[in-house]
Amino acid sequence: MAELKLVGGYPEYMRESIKLVEKTRPKRVGKLPPQMTMEEREEVLNLCHPDYAPGGKRPISIGQNKGDIAPNEVVDLLEAYPLIEPDEIDLNRVDYDVDILIIGGGLAGTSAALLANDSGIPVDRILLATKLRHGDSNSIMAQGGTQAADRPEDSPVIHYVDTMGGGHFANKPDVVKALVEDAPKVMKWLCDLGAMFDRDENGNFVELSGGGASRKRMHACRDYTGMEELRVLRDEFRNRGIPVLEYYPVVELLTDGDNRVTGAILVNLETDEYKIVRAKAVILATGGFGRLHIRGFPTTNHYGATADGLVLAYRAGAKLRDTDTVQYHPTGAVYPQQIVGLLLITV
Ligand SMILES: Cc1cc2nc3c(=O)[nH]c(=O)nc-3n(C[C@H](O)[C@H](O)[C@H](O)COP(=O)(O)OP(=O)(O)OC[C@H]3O[C@@H](n4cnc5c(N)ncnc54)[C@H](O)[C@@H]3O)c2cc1C
Repeated sequence: MAELKLVGGYPEYMRESIKLVEKTRPKRVGKLPPQMTMEEREEVLNLCHPDYAPGGKRPISIGQNKGDIAPNEVVDLLEAYPLIEPDEIDLNRVDYDVDILIIGGGLAGTSAALLANDSGIPVDRILLATKLRHGDSNSIMAQGGTQAADRPEDSPVIHYVDTMGGGHFANKPDVVKALVEDAPKVMKWLCDLGAMFDRDENGNFVELSGGGASRKRMHACRDYTGMEELRVLRDEFRNRGIPVLEYYPVVELLTDGDNRVTGAILVNLETDEYKIVRAKAVILATGGFGRLHIRGFPTTNHYGATADGLVLAYRAGAKLRDTDTVQYHPTGAVYPQQIVGLLLITV
């Protein structure tokens, strides 16, 4: 039989290690490595996991969360000086005056713009500003799928219990409630807009088991679910003609001095010019901070995921919650042997 073509694309040094794996495979087939003891588990966590190895977190020294613990990389940003000098900005020269400013061009931001328009705000009173191109986001990279309890044997209540349990009951209940109740409606919305979720020959959804789920409720579009979801939402956004500013990160929120956000300062990444937006309401949809690479944690997170929203909100007076927690995603294990190749999934 001809040599396996699959191996052809690998560099020489990998072919050598593939040969080694193949040669020693018979020794491993049918045998499971022994279960680790609790002490061994503790040791691995303390050695390798960015949340456990000592020295990775410290108390925040200023602001509303003073004294709360957070990863050093996040604290560095919360404590940093602002990017702009006040005398560089003339707040009397307003460039955009809108009802609603949405910051971030992923699924959350794009949905918010459409829902704002659905609720009666005219398109020319909405503005979406995003750091890179519209759609450059973690959303477009989500692969596994979206959970929605829409089978007869499932319900939002069961989804709620699974999610609370998966979060060790530390989740915010009203947020989980909104998530599980809205999920089936959102699935219908996406389908009505043309999203092509995986279906069987009878046209029914093919639903998969998600981590921590007691029912199959994961809706996928092959392995590009987020891209498909954003495709239909962004098409709808463009068809409606909602204004968008690309390559315009928000660098500061503006307030009335009394804890009310009244707009934002944007920077044009090509010209370095600042733009002032006045808005009756501002929605932050800037995603997470995977790209801060907490303690060097490797990630395929999007380049825009650098905690901007947390810092903007903090500087405007918001109190952050759960500052000590980080979602490391995606996560695959390469060590120790007992869990090699497992995807450590989050609910
Ligand atoms: C590889 C990968 C796979 C995943 N798979 C799944 C999955 O299978 N199922 C699931 O449910 N979840 C999955 N997730 C998580 C999911 O993608 C995110 O939780 C979700 O997409 C977040 O959406 P969002 O709109 O809040 O943020 P994002 O999609 O990250 O969008 C944030 C947007 O804000 C912009 N932005 C950031 N800072 C600024 C600023 N200062 N000014 C203006 N704009 C700014 C960014 O450029 C980006 O456009 C996955 C994540 C990754 C990385």
